[in-house]
Amino acid sequence: MKAIALIAHDRCKQDMVNFARIHAARLRDRVLIATRTTGSLLERELDLEIECVLSGPEGGDLQIGAQIAEGNIAAVIFLRDVLTAQPHEPDITALLRICDVHNVPVATNLATAELIMASLQ
Ligand code: PGA
Repeated sequence: MKAIALIAHDRCKQDMVNFARIHAARLRDRVLIATRTTGSLLERELDLEIECVLSGPEGGDLQIGAQIAEGNIAAVIFLRDVLTAQPHEPDITALLRICDVHNVPVATNLATAELIMASLQ
């Protein structure tokens, strides 16, 4: 089964925890992959089983991008902090680009994340 990728910038991590809590039952049925800090937080808070790659600024976004290119990702939920400059902005752009290249749904806000979860039912 293809994985769902979960990434949240620091100021969006609590939103991700709240979102994942609401959808925990459905997420438990899926393979989950996340950048390290996001994934560790979700594992700790919600006891979800998650494959953690590197932290975003250390290359985690690119690792998830590689998984997208390999055809292993069903959808990406990527809660971005658009009000803060990110040191790994080029990696973020690359991740969004590779989603478009491979036609993988990517949610960058909670409203779209909800639509993706509804479509996965
Ligand atoms: P993190 O990475 O989950 O390790 O914080 C996310 C990011 O900042 O891209």
